[in-house]
Amino acid sequence: LREGDAGRTEEALAILSRVFGYDSFRGEQAAIIDQVASGGDAVVLMPTGGGKSLCYQIPALLREGTGIVVSPLIALMADQVAALEAVGIRAAYLNSTLEMHEAQAVEQQLLAGELDLLYMAPERLVLPRTVQLLQRAQLALFAIDEAHCVSQWGHDFRPDYLGLSMLADAFPGVPRIALTATATEATHRELTERLQMQQARHFVSSFDRPNIQYRIEPKASPREQLLRLITAEHEGDSGIVYCLSRKSVETTAQWLADRGIPALPYHAGLPPEVRQDHQERFLRADGLIMVATIAFGMGIDKPDVRFVAHLDLPKSIEGYYQETGRAGRDGLPSTAWMAYGLGDVVSQRKFIEGGESSEQFKRNARSHLDAMLALCETVDCRRVQLLRYFGQDSSPCGNCDTCLNPPQTWDATVAAQKLLSAVIRLDRERGQRFGSGQVVDVLLGRESERSLASRHHELSVWGIGEELSEKEWRTAIRQLLARGILEAEGDYGVLVPGPQAGPVLRSEETVQLAVDRAPQRGARGGGRR
Ligand code: ADP
Ligand code: ZN
Repeated sequence: LREGDAGRTEEALAILSRVFGYDSFRGEQAAIIDQVASGGDAVVLMPTGGGKSLCYQIPALLREGTGIVVSPLIALMADQVAALEAVGIRAAYLNSTLEMHEAQAVEQQLLAGELDLLYMAPERLVLPRTVQLLQRAQLALFAIDEAHCVSQWGHDFRPDYLGLSMLADAFPGVPRIALTATATEATHRELTERLQMQQARHFVSSFDRPNIQYRIEPKASPREQLLRLITAEHEGDSGIVYCLSRKSVETTAQWLADRGIPALPYHAGLPPEVRQDHQERFLRADGLIMVATIAFGMGIDKPDVRFVAHLDLPKSIEGYYQETGRAGRDGLPSTAWMAYGLGDVVSQRKFIEGGESSEQFKRNARSHLDAMLALCETVDCRRVQLLRYFGQDSSPCGNCDTCLNPPQTWDATVAAQKLLSAVIRLDRERGQRFGSGQVVDVLLGRESERSLASRHHELSVWGIGEELSEKEWRTAIRQLLARGILEAEGDYGVLVPGPQAGPVLRSEETVQLAVDRAPQRGARGGGRR
């Protein structure tokens, strides 16, 4: 170590304890702080709750001038600044919620060198007026928070982030640190390139959250299943319940409240003051459940969220990981629970194919969904699968549902062939295509007005699947959809053979499917910590 390095590290530790009240750095914090404080660039991939904020706050305090923090979360800036001021840091923000004279006062403080940290949204930063202002000030660093928002491949793209590529040229002497909790290879590569951070040092933390128990169970009656999770394992705990639609957010919150479970709704359609109020109550109170769309959660720092539940399938593993990552920031045992069913697959496919978006966007969305489905349908350790998605190897964790309770599998090759044959026959001989309900009717030979009218009982595939129950067929369809052996098309989720159907039909490949387990209790506190 050079003299300067040792001195800097000591000073950083002193700030850590004097200002923030902690006595040691976590993970790679010390190395990151050293890199940026010494004027270098850094790309930081660290899971939610890992402690990213200190990685730019401390270098900003160590260096001369003001640290500019770029964040998309305008709604949280006031809170973040208040928290910093409370520990004696000179912080401010510039955004559209400020009156003209307030903004001018902040600008004066900046130019007078009276600010340690200044928060602003990217759309503000890239304005020529702001760039000129910043060029007249002394800057300690740029911190680009939620840096994955620059990636078009990612799930959270914000066009305003693209403008940040200018920082390298406009402020050549000012170190930059980009931070995100999203860590696929593709996002990492793209953000490095787009933010022109090729010269940066990269710090990639482990993405494992060992205290979170991952569980995904078949969706039967999701609210009842959720209620069982809460009453059996999380009575009185704080939690977040994610739903896809605003309507289901509201009905679910009401449904829970009707059963004596304190729950509040949160979605972008609620008036801002209601959202603000619910968010504050959730942060302050114990044992409150927030039922929300994905509009809720980014930047929320509540350490004791004991469970995150998904009543609908997230669109990507990145989304799932970020949302579940809001559980257990304090390191104590927590649950990430999801109910997932055939309807989720059908409606998400429909949503992707039916949209007006570009072919590129659809391709991305499809591959995100496929990876998410593979996680849902895996018979191996969920954590291994999750971490592998982020490019990290690990061994079975002992703290997820598939580890605690390995699913039984069965040889479903013949069943898959029967299903495919039924789908193909219906199409070929009748020129008709059907959703899962009618295909199951045909397999079971179940006479209904519909099937009789269509003379389905005359087909050779009529009743060839009586060895399985309706529920078992629906489970099989869901898993075959997840693997691309079947595909669901159009508004009604019409079943057609998928890209992987050929080898199965020709008996070149066998199909192992998992037996759906009854919803069950997980082993709380089991496994590793
Ligand atoms: P992230 O932005 O990565 O999600 P935060 O920066 O919000 O994480 O930090 C998560 C929590 O961990 C915060 O409550 C923070 O104060 C705490 N924390 C961060 N670094 C340390 C540390 N070195 N020692 C103790 N607590 C820390
Ligand atoms: Zn596991």
